Amino acid sequence: MKEYGNRTKEIHAGQEKADIGTGARAVPIYLTSSYVFNDAEYAADVFMMDKPGYIYTRLNNPTNEALEKRVAAIEGGSGCLTVSSGMAAISTALLTIVQSGDEIVSGNNLYGGTFTLFKNTFAKWGIKVHFVDSQDLNAFEEAINENTKAIYCESIGNPKLDVPDFEALSELAHKNNIPLVVDNTSAIGMVKPIDYGADVVVHSATKIIGGHGTALGGTIVESGKFDWTNGKFPEFTEPDESYHGLIYSERFPETALVEKARCQILRDLGLCSSPFNSFQLLQGLETMSLRVNQHCENALEVAKFLESHDAVSWVNYLGLENNPNHEQAKKYLKGKYGCVLGFGIKGGIEEGKKFIANVKLCSHLANICDAKTLVVHPGSTTHSGLTPEEQISTGVTPDFIRMSVGIENVEDIIADINQALQKAVK
Ligand SMILES: *Cc1c(COP(=O)(O)O)cnc(C)c1O
Repeated sequence: MKEYGNRTKEIHAGQEKADIGTGARAVPIYLTSSYVFNDAEYAADVFMMDKPGYIYTRLNNPTNEALEKRVAAIEGGSGCLTVSSGMAAISTALLTIVQSGDEIVSGNNLYGGTFTLFKNTFAKWGIKVHFVDSQDLNAFEEAINENTKAIYCESIGNPKLDVPDFEALSELAHKNNIPLVVDNTSAIGMVKPIDYGADVVVHSATKIIGGHGTALGGTIVESGKFDWTNGKFPEFTEPDESYHGLIYSERFPETALVEKARCQILRDLGLCSSPFNSFQLLQGLETMSLRVNQHCENALEVAKFLESHDAVSWVNYLGLENNPNHEQAKKYLKGKYGCVLGFGIKGGIEEGKKFIANVKLCSHLANICDAKTLVVHPGSTTHSGLTPEEQISTGVTPDFIRMSVGIENVEDIIADINQALQKAVK
């Protein structure tokens, strides 16, 4: 698959031949919990991971595997694990790397759910996360100490909407012998963080990958290049007593993280994905690049329209040349700037609520990167669990409307926004 272009991989990777046995051309939904072993010896070999094979769908499944291979091919990784949601991908990836007593340095421009996981749940488990300004490299560097086991960032910070300096962050991580973990949910199909040194890439497959707002899912991709044997990660290099003394770095030199995550976290915490959801996500991937192009084209037009509108006080979209992060976005996203934009309505919170109450074509809901255009008021919904100071530091002002621009005809999206804006400020 390596030599093929992106659109070809999106359609074919993970299933290069029709289904053996039936000839089914689509990836079949293998909706089964378990698999019959041919004989006792084979069963023992599969359990020891001496032979490839399927045991139980919490650990592996052919439909999930097709999705894993496809996402790995798209991101240029050596392996991938699919799990039940984006949050499951983030927690599983990090819990495979860090233990109680370890620390993580993270950008502060995070998806609300990730912020809560890091600040509250990880803290309860003895994992400390330092939040630093997502654009301040020195702040990342200063927060690293001998307990730090990963640097974490989001490709297009949600909702601040900025792009990290992937190259500089991966350099900093590698200088400290730790991996760079990137949440590429909002920019898959636009940037491959692994090309810029990222070691682990996680996604909420619920968003661009699925693309139609139907199925939750998450994926964890690893580059295969990080040296887990550098002395900082003994769990990768010492026998796992819970798994027949398996040494992940030896048995899986290129996919140690994915297999450790599967054998430990997926086995023990059970955040596995349904083959039915994987099927939906595979369908989404087949048109991902086409959708991404249309999303980005529409979002830029909507951003320009909003910028020229009397009722709008500010617009935040990476594609606008006056955006402070535009040049960095241009470098990494190569002319695409994502489907999400933010804007403020003149007046503030009441006008914002009125705008949302009056949209007709746009849906009022908390999701992004759906084929349909979506709007939400983060201050009273997705980020309401944060303190006012935390809201400001993550980029959530009271007048802020977040819009995920869909792939409808852009003139219809703009007409809907226009009528709702007029009603809001009347
Ligand atoms: C939605 C989202 C998540 C969480 O994904 P779920 O599939 O809802 O669990 C994580 N990160 C980002 C950037 C997201 O947009």
